[in-house]
Amino acid sequence: MPTIAFDNSYARDLPQHAVPWQPQPPRAPQLLYWNAALAAELGLETAEVAAETLAAQFSGAELPAGAQPVAQAYAGHQFGGFSPSLGDGRALLLGELIDRRGQRRDLAFKGSGRTPFSRRGDGKAAVGPMLRELIIGEALQALGIPTTRALAVVATGEEVYREQTLPGAVLTRVAASHIRVGTFQYFAARGELEQLKALADYTIARHYPQAAEAANPYLALLQAVCTAQAALIARWMHVGFIHGVMNTDNMALSGESIDFGPCAFMDAYDSETVFSSIDSQGRYAYGNQPWIAQWNLARLAETLLPLMAPEDPASAVPAATELVEGFAQQYLQQWRAEGYRKLGLPAQDGPGLLEDWLALLAAQRADHTLAWRFLAEAAAGDDSRLVAQFAEPQPLADWLAQWRQQLAASGATPEQTAAALRAANPLYIARNHLVEEALAAASERGDMAPTLQLLAVLAQPYTERAELVRYTQPAPAALAAGYRTF
Ligand code: AMP
Ligand code: MG
Ligand code: MG
Repeated sequence: MPTIAFDNSYARDLPQHAVPWQPQPPRAPQLLYWNAALAAELGLETAEVAAETLAAQFSGAELPAGAQPVAQAYAGHQFGGFSPSLGDGRALLLGELIDRRGQRRDLAFKGSGRTPFSRRGDGKAAVGPMLRELIIGEALQALGIPTTRALAVVATGEEVYREQTLPGAVLTRVAASHIRVGTFQYFAARGELEQLKALADYTIARHYPQAAEAANPYLALLQAVCTAQAALIARWMHVGFIHGVMNTDNMALSGESIDFGPCAFMDAYDSETVFSSIDSQGRYAYGNQPWIAQWNLARLAETLLPLMAPEDPASAVPAATELVEGFAQQYLQQWRAEGYRKLGLPAQDGPGLLEDWLALLAAQRADHTLAWRFLAEAAAGDDSRLVAQFAEPQPLADWLAQWRQQLAASGATPEQTAAALRAANPLYIARNHLVEEALAAASERGDMAPTLQLLAVLAQPYTERAELVRYTQPAPAALAAGYRTF
């Protein structure tokens, strides 16, 4: 194994923010998945390394040289209720490295055993959920959406006890960082202002260095995080992604998607869609995501007040409030820009064709992905696959007439518009029944083939391949009804 050039700034610069801890060595580690493309991006030369070595090093059996594992402290609002102490209960940060593009990236384990933050948990993870995390991360990545990613998934050869007995796994996660809104909440709730300041300064230096130059760096940090989240959530919404557990401990300051638990992509367009079995109130429903993000940003803002105005934190409230309220406008602007790009039109300010289109999808419960995708063909004159997504043809025909009028005014040729639309609207998403099928094969039979095939499909979401028609289809009604994620 070539050495990884770790540079562990979090453990070094913020010693009070994490606890040195060792992974629990697994009984019989076996490599299920190795992300060679991501390894190359990280500058890891592992092409010649045996699977057994990778399995050992990326499961906690033997650590890669230079790793300095720590469990990170954080707090969080979970479904609106505050827990002052969560932390890495089944995760460990191994350290950081500088990737080929000069970006600092975290390497972290998930499922590597109990830590001082485990509370009642076993510190373990099962194969199925770790593969879901892998698949969702790769799907978002291929869609160009900022996300944490899996470098490796290793089966531990051990059993994990949930509602059933499941095979265990350790996932190695790569992230811009693991700093969460909940990390700030941890130190704010304890009144540890020096640690809070150290965290904020570290976050600025690592993610938003330009904020250090601002008149008030902590206001600038809040602003930068609001902007990053507005962009992220707008992208989620336009691909029908539902995170499922947008607790403040699951929102990263970097603006990456993180912590994929009961997440899923929506089939039929419906803003009330909820898949998570634990979200009985629909707090984290598809259509609520922007406003939950804003709520989380308000919690971040509260933690930063004593840094914004050390003498009189309350005096910073108006400026911080303005930024958090401004998130709504930023989000709408990002959402409209992306939405009109997906319609092949210049962005419009007020409610218009975009809102009408989504109202039409909602009214007819059209498949979100396919309806958008088949606009490309409609732009080139062939409405057939689009029309097939709608129960009633007339409302669609009325909308299409308006859309075509605006397209004509834009001056692009139908072929140019069709190509632009194919590049903006994916055909392949990680559909729930395909994900479940892949996880079941791996978890029940140790068969990784469906997962690898699905990953190959999702790696090129915009390129239609005729032989992959099965991967474009919504779940059969019987499977879609009452679909739940855990
Ligand atoms: P999550 O729901 O995965 O975002 O996790 C919320 C909190 O519960 C975090 O502090 C996790 O580290 C912790 N946690 C989740 N699952 C386990 C587990 N099996 N063992 C220990 N801690 C866990
Ligand atoms: Mg979490
Ligand atoms: Mg999680």
